[in-house]
Amino acid sequence: MDFEFTPEQNQLRRSIRDFAQAEIAPHVLEWDENQTFPLGVVKKLGELGVMGTIFPEDLGGAGLGYIEYAIVIEELARVDPSVALIVAAHNSLCTNHIYLAGSDEQRKKYIPKLASAEWIGCWSLTEPEAGSDAAGTQSSAVLKGDEWVLNGGKTFTTNAHYADVCVAMAVTDRSASQHGISAFILEKGTPGFRVGKKENKLGMRASATGEVLFTDCHLARSQLLGKQGEGFVDSLRILDGGRISIAALAIGTAQGAFDAALKYSKQRKQFGRFISEFQAIQHKLADMATSIESARWLTYCAGARKDAGKRVTKESAMAKLFASEIAVKVADDALQIHGGYGFIKDYPVEKFYRDVKLCTIGEGTSEIQRLVIARQLLKE
Ligand SMILES: Cc1cc2nc3c(=O)[nH]c(=O)nc-3n(C[C@H](O)[C@H](O)[C@H](O)COP(=O)(O)OP(=O)(O)OC[C@H]3O[C@@H](n4cnc5c(N)ncnc54)[C@H](O)[C@@H]3O)c2cc1C
Repeated sequence: MDFEFTPEQNQLRRSIRDFAQAEIAPHVLEWDENQTFPLGVVKKLGELGVMGTIFPEDLGGAGLGYIEYAIVIEELARVDPSVALIVAAHNSLCTNHIYLAGSDEQRKKYIPKLASAEWIGCWSLTEPEAGSDAAGTQSSAVLKGDEWVLNGGKTFTTNAHYADVCVAMAVTDRSASQHGISAFILEKGTPGFRVGKKENKLGMRASATGEVLFTDCHLARSQLLGKQGEGFVDSLRILDGGRISIAALAIGTAQGAFDAALKYSKQRKQFGRFISEFQAIQHKLADMATSIESARWLTYCAGARKDAGKRVTKESAMAKLFASEIAVKVADDALQIHGGYGFIKDYPVEKFYRDVKLCTIGEGTSEIQRLVIARQLLKE
């Protein structure tokens, strides 16, 4: 086994880190306070190739793999988890669904524009009554003549309010259960397709999350994505890859919180000593760094397997479960190391503490990850 990143991967990490410091760090607090979607930065990330990291160059992508993708997400999250979430939903959910299930025509039409961030993408599976039980989708699509007619609504869609393209799941055959849900590509401006409420969130406030609504929305037959009835099954495949990005997002957030705590511990004096000299603080720092490093290898291992073309249902769920749970703990410890100052917005740890919680919920809760892992273990 080779545990080293390649020189190119290290270079990629440095360049994303530099970009995040220069273009994102100065605005993090303001974007969070005002729930500002950082459209300008997203467009610049498009120019850098980040919005199409995992897609082939002939479709306008960067032609990289999941190791590089995890590096990108990790480094963005280290500075602003919201930006990492915007990139993750766009890449591994929306664009990847079109890449994995789309026809050649659909790939050529959508992926180059998404990869360059000329268009922003979102992916709508969750509904008010179908969250963890996503197979309980209620939105429907009925074929009338030569058109699909969609009715219903989605909730919690990342990027919804800024998306030009939305991949959404709807029931096409209620009697076929999991094999009766299909995926559709919707373009902004299609009559009957609109966004609804934008959520006011605890964290990840610079990433827009909200409703996507369909009211007698007519779509050409060509907007069906993948095989009819296979949209839900394809979604599970999409989530296998997506969970690697949420694990990387959790690691980056934890690393950002750890960096802040380490720095603070070397500056803050109590009882005439730097608090980093107290063993209780040192043990916290040691445990935090150890858990981040463990999560990192679980995640990059899942990424390497994915890049090798292997199935990663269990591995990506394990990485996502472990990374998100340790990240919540690391952010908590990082805040504790700051004492009362961790509780105020002048210090970045306050925001990491709020942002990180999404990682144990989005793309399947921790409880659902355990269910996925156990199901695979019992099958093996
Ligand atoms: C900021 C944000 C961004 C999101 N972005 C997107 C997006 O872009 N696209 C999208 O489609 N969705 C998105 N989601 C939705 C997200 O994936 C869901 O919130 C998540 O899957 C959980 O669904 P739910 O919120 O309905 O919770 P519920 O499913 O109602 O779960 C409530 C609780 O019950 C537990 N539970 C449920 N079923 C079981 C079970 N069988 N066994 C044990 N425990 C169980 C859950 O773990 C949880 O603790 C986003 C959510 C948020 C908050």
